[in-house]
Amino acid sequence: PKRDDDFHYFTSYGSNEIHATMLADKVRTSTYASFILGTPTVFNEAVVLDVGCGTGILSMFAARSGAKRVYAVDASDIVKRAEKIIKDSGYDDVITVIQGKVEDITFPDGVTEVDVIVSEWMGYALLYESMLDSVLVARDRFLRPGGVFAPSQCRMMLSLCEGTEIYRDRVGMWDDVYGFDMSAMKEEVYGEAIIDIVKPETLVSDPVIIKDIYIPDAQPRQLNFRSSFSLVCTSTKRTKIHAFVLYFDTFFSQLGVPISPSTKVQVAHEGSPIVAEVWPLGGKFQPRRRASQGWNKTPGEERVTSFSTGPEIEPTHWKQTIFLLHEPIRAREGTIVIGTFSCRKSDENSRELDIEIRYSVKGDDVNPPGDLIIQMYK
Ligand code: SAH
Repeated sequence: PKRDDDFHYFTSYGSNEIHATMLADKVRTSTYASFILGTPTVFNEAVVLDVGCGTGILSMFAARSGAKRVYAVDASDIVKRAEKIIKDSGYDDVITVIQGKVEDITFPDGVTEVDVIVSEWMGYALLYESMLDSVLVARDRFLRPGGVFAPSQCRMMLSLCEGTEIYRDRVGMWDDVYGFDMSAMKEEVYGEAIIDIVKPETLVSDPVIIKDIYIPDAQPRQLNFRSSFSLVCTSTKRTKIHAFVLYFDTFFSQLGVPISPSTKVQVAHEGSPIVAEVWPLGGKFQPRRRASQGWNKTPGEERVTSFSTGPEIEPTHWKQTIFLLHEPIRAREGTIVIGTFSCRKSDENSRELDIEIRYSVKGDDVNPPGDLIIQMYK
């Protein structure tokens, strides 16, 4: 990122408010806790790097899980408070706080390698903020071969949404504002990504993976990408599709290999900890079991800690990202919406995203093809 892109960014992380929001996000924070505290084999006696430590929460989980040394790194002024918090926790003999960008810092005592990298780098629509680039730099600078990443994999998921309500609230409302026609305001609405909670019953397709990022192997250039999708309407009655919905799923796996796209994954979300149940292809896929009912591993099954930011689980502070269509698509069960989704860092500010969605309805001349150009700069 350019210097100015960083200034505003790190200043924003200096405020209490943003950290309060993240810590209060139970799905997020408890899943990190569940993985770090539940996997002492990874953390016990390990040297850990926390990229973007904020208040120090993940560093303290790592210390509690037996880490012998934790480097808590953050460029923002929040580290001043992290230092105090860590001292008050009694883990200041294990955790070393370092203020600076992970791209620039070095560790004291001549340490050059870590066993584990923990980081909570995910932004809206996953890649907004572009912090993953910094995590990849940290990997190349410090992670020992075979070291562990938490999380290890993230997927961007796309789905179709019947958004009558969203449409009315965001677009329709401008038709009549205290008797004035404010429809001049409408055009703007389409150029922006809407961050909001989508009701699960308004989803009218199964989701598809539009980007699958396995952190140990990921390369920065792969974060500007274009991928094609095919979404099949599952609504049993005639419906109107008003929007695409984007969210991401996050996995904490120690399998040492990516979870393949053909692997069946079920993200459980009742009770805590939250676990994804992963079946390799050919394995037996069973109906959702409650996480609290325990786990009987059968051959071919793996249990992986995970959380989703999708509409079907308890909302997280990331909510979902909604892209409104200019014209709703008339659809019914089996209608196929095909297209391409592209996402790249904006030229003006590398922390912002330019998203482009081109779509059409397969074998249909009722619904004209469309495209959406969206700048994400929330
Ligand atoms: N780990 C904390 C905070 C996560 S927010 C928690 O889970 O609650 C992300 C943090 O990463 C912010 O505090 C931000 O200042 C920091 N950050 C982002 N990019 C960074 C970089 N390149 N170097 C150091 N810190 C960074």
